[in-house]
Amino acid sequence: MTKLRSVGRSTNEDLRARVHFCSETGQIWLHEHRMLLVHAEAQATLRNELIDTLGMDRAKGLLTRMGYASGVRDAELARTRAEDSSDLEAFMTGPQLHTLEGIVKVTPLKLELNRHSGKFYAEILWEHSWEGQSHRRHYGIHSEPVCWTQIGYACGYTSAFMGRTILYKEVECTGMGHNNCRIVGKPAEEWDDAAEQMRFFNSESIADQLIDLQTQVVQLRSSIGDRDQLPEDVTGTSPGFRAAYELLKQAAGSHISVLLQGETGVGKEVFARSLHEMGPRCSKPFVAVNCAAIPQELVESELFGVEKGAYTGALVSRPGRFERADGGTLFLDEIGDLPLSAQAKLLRVLQDGEIERLGDQKTRKINVRLVAATNTNLQELVKAGRFRSDLYYRLNAYQIVIPPLRERKQDIPLLAKHFLAKHTAIHGKKLRGFTDKAKRALLAYPWPGNIRELQNAVERGVILAPSGTRIEVSHLFLSSNDVQPQEFGLDPSGGLDINRWEAGKDLREAVFNGTLTLDQVEAMLLETAVDKARGNLSSAARMLGLTRPQIAYRLKRLHEGKDGPGDPASAAFDGTRVGSI
Ligand SMILES: [Zn+2]
Repeated sequence: MTKLRSVGRSTNEDLRARVHFCSETGQIWLHEHRMLLVHAEAQATLRNELIDTLGMDRAKGLLTRMGYASGVRDAELARTRAEDSSDLEAFMTGPQLHTLEGIVKVTPLKLELNRHSGKFYAEILWEHSWEGQSHRRHYGIHSEPVCWTQIGYACGYTSAFMGRTILYKEVECTGMGHNNCRIVGKPAEEWDDAAEQMRFFNSESIADQLIDLQTQVVQLRSSIGDRDQLPEDVTGTSPGFRAAYELLKQAAGSHISVLLQGETGVGKEVFARSLHEMGPRCSKPFVAVNCAAIPQELVESELFGVEKGAYTGALVSRPGRFERADGGTLFLDEIGDLPLSAQAKLLRVLQDGEIERLGDQKTRKINVRLVAATNTNLQELVKAGRFRSDLYYRLNAYQIVIPPLRERKQDIPLLAKHFLAKHTAIHGKKLRGFTDKAKRALLAYPWPGNIRELQNAVERGVILAPSGTRIEVSHLFLSSNDVQPQEFGLDPSGGLDINRWEAGKDLREAVFNGTLTLDQVEAMLLETAVDKARGNLSSAARMLGLTRPQIAYRLKRLHEGKDGPGDPASAAFDGTRVGSI
């Protein structure tokens, strides 16, 4: 040991002489390499941030490789000294530089090496390890050694010096609570766990991993589905709904592309998923893409995939959604937002069953059933030159129009009951159903956001209504603005001149502050219509968009002065036993 220390001391001074501070140019040189004098605390901040953002394992890999790179540089310097000194003396350059650079004080305890035969064994004491102390200060005592950069340095230096892979391990570490760190180094073949140690020398592209994870998230999401959009949430007995669902069932067994047309919130994705699940592709992937949610410049790479180097930033090859949906169904929502260039490619996929990744020469066969959806009028987009007519005709071959909720009001009680059961279960609440006023409001409201909005309103009601009570209007609609005056309590197809209802706002206020009831509003409308029609019930009914028997029924009830048991709104809800919970 004494001999080793004296070897170190004798060669130290010429190394110091190789450090040059060049204040004029702002450079520090160690021999031929530019060096940096960095604040240890700043370095610690970077190290901590790596650990906190990437986790111990990834930070360890990065820091080990960083140390390895500086060890390899220092080995170059050692080689220049090797010519006029022994192997042992030349080797000591590394430990001395590591010390000189302020990282750790290095003292070899045992050192046997022969560059010619490749023999190597080292046992080294590390005192005042910067990394060990810093880690311990910020993270406390660790169960494993923590001087990753330093171990990387030792491995890089010795491997470059010896011309073969030498691995070091810390057998003691200040980061683990020991007084000093102690390392042992020997050729990779002599370690049982060499592969595990070497794992940290392989750089891993975090970008690759992120893309992989993103892909998994997309797949998981499409297999779990949107919590808001369960197949059982799309149900109904209205003719409009049943006609649409019947068309869907008929298409399920075939391969034909389907275009779903309907407003936001009508359940287009659930329709698409049901189509997938009813058909022979049900065991294959269902992949949903919202074309409006992807930036235009990324749409093509998302859909068709990309080859490495296709454009700046395309660091890895990756499959697009079409390839991921192979064998299954691809659902393209808001297809009207697809850029024209992507439309051309989509058409080719539909015609030839082939895709070409961006930047790729070869084509790939794929077998995907396409379901597209839109809430805009594609025909108008075609006229405006924003949608290819050939693609439109291809998609339009099998079109299913899903009616908005306001056109299938008879389904509202069923849906409201369903959502009530669902959300009382989710929120662990017991409720007795809806008040009569709430039932009427649910039927009267136009639901521009359709089923999704209905579900949100019912969920809000479930949350706001005290346990054991019934959901009231104010629980469903937080603000009176939610209920538009010209539609609240009126039949939207009802032929009333809405402009003449300038008092609509006042009317709404009156209903909400309780000075007027809905029944009174209805009475006003009925009486006005009858007056205008000079008593002719058929013509009064037409003004309100009702049939003659309907208006007669309402007037009869009005004259009876109270809600009878035959109130259609209440009956609809009671018939589905909303309040049975
Ligand atoms: Zn250590």
